[in-house]
Amino acid sequence: MSPESLAKLYLFGSVGFLVVTIQLGVPPHIATLLLIATGVSGLAYLAYQPSFRKSKLTPEQKAILVDFDFYKTLTQIERLEFERRVSYLTENKEFMGRQDLVITDRMRVLVAATIAQIGFGFEFITFEDFDKIIIFPKAYYSKHTGHYHKGEVTSSGVIVLSWADFLEGFNISDDGYNVGLHEIAHALRLEDAIPGDEYHFLKEADLDAWNRIAEREYDNIRAGKPSFIRSYAGTNRQEFFAVCIEQFFEQPQGFYDALPELYKAMARLMKQDPLKRKRKYF
Ligand SMILES: [Zn+2]
Repeated sequence: MSPESLAKLYLFGSVGFLVVTIQLGVPPHIATLLLIATGVSGLAYLAYQPSFRKSKLTPEQKAILVDFDFYKTLTQIERLEFERRVSYLTENKEFMGRQDLVITDRMRVLVAATIAQIGFGFEFITFEDFDKIIIFPKAYYSKHTGHYHKGEVTSSGVIVLSWADFLEGFNISDDGYNVGLHEIAHALRLEDAIPGDEYHFLKEADLDAWNRIAEREYDNIRAGKPSFIRSYAGTNRQEFFAVCIEQFFEQPQGFYDALPELYKAMARLMKQDPLKRKRKYF
């Protein structure tokens, strides 16, 4: 439950509680004391909610965020919420470098910001089932597939990224290629499917609408027809979703112009519309 809905529940609950206790003949000062006690425990509970915590970003970390395109499009109030989320994620995820890569603040902040960006339309999704982020210096060889990978997400809760490729996606922010967004899009679908606190946050009706509209374009790509969505999306439905997320955030205007129904279905599903932000703030 969000801090806002808890506050509402407490307010309405208090009025009801007072009316009932007074009618039952409970002395008003006892009733008031009980209310204060529930209020205090409510506040203590809120203090532990990730989205309610204060941002603990250092000035250096904040300076890194200023470079992050999505952050630039946010209003002042949204920026505070975004900073809180990034701060929580940098502190609570375990970042591990591979092949002698040393994890820096820049890596922590940019990866956390990408996670916060994808889920920003929802109440804070912390990706609780993904507690480890492994970063390789560049594309790495996978014995499992026999190929070089730029990133992957495992069902055991690990997000793996090649830093060189992550940076390329980040530096060129309008070409529709973004490994960070791509891999975290996979993580988002898994997080939505793994039972737990963060489960089924994607609304079923929106997901059904998305699947219905997506199927047409997916079939087009599989049939080799030209599409705004790049052909890798035809690999399977998971890849289709991840590629759409990359292009949704990086090329919202082109996406909307080429496939308005699919774009709108994605905006509804993700509860955010990058095109509106860009129009408004750039
Ligand atoms: Zn993929």
